[in-house]
Amino acid sequence: MQDKELYQYILGLQSPWSVSEVKLDMQSQEILVRVEHPGGTKFCCPDCRKELACYDHGEERHWRHLDSCQFKTILVARVPRVDCPTHGVKSAIVAWAEPHSRFTILFEAADACFSQLSEEQIKSVKAVAMDMSSAYANATKQCIPMADEKIVHDPFHVMKMANEAMNSLRYYLFTQTRNCKGVVLQGTAT
Ligand SMILES: [Zn+2]
Repeated sequence: MQDKELYQYILGLQSPWSVSEVKLDMQSQEILVRVEHPGGTKFCCPDCRKELACYDHGEERHWRHLDSCQFKTILVARVPRVDCPTHGVKSAIVAWAEPHSRFTILFEAADACFSQLSEEQIKSVKAVAMDMSSAYANATKQCIPMADEKIVHDPFHVMKMANEAMNSLRYYLFTQTRNCKGVVLQGTAT
């Protein structure tokens, strides 16, 4: 896995955003992860959520993310702005941070959640329930010892994933067998 893909995964970045550069600054002990979006992407007005074309971009901003080992990890981006007919020119909503925050949502969540626990309480955590976002899992791994054995997923997300896997399998079998005469797949639309 390349460093860009790795940080895409660690940050839990979703389309249209992708990592364009990962830079290690030994002096400041920081990893700068620059993210960008393709041209022509539409963004939402933060006030009315209307989807609009990108008007321009604000100044480059930095958000502190959860550390990568001993290095501070900083997400870097220029936030797109939209020109809403009702609300005027506004910075668009970005998925990783609240407006005006200097921290990513995950950093804030992990900080709010785990920083309130004493060392003793951290050690006694038996399970951490979450959805299947790799970003939450990574945040937990940074704060809870042996987190791999303690992360649990709720039944809703497990069943959703199982259903999606079954649908993919059903579709695959259907496409593989539709030209074979005499093969009948029960419960499969034809
Ligand atoms: Zn608006």
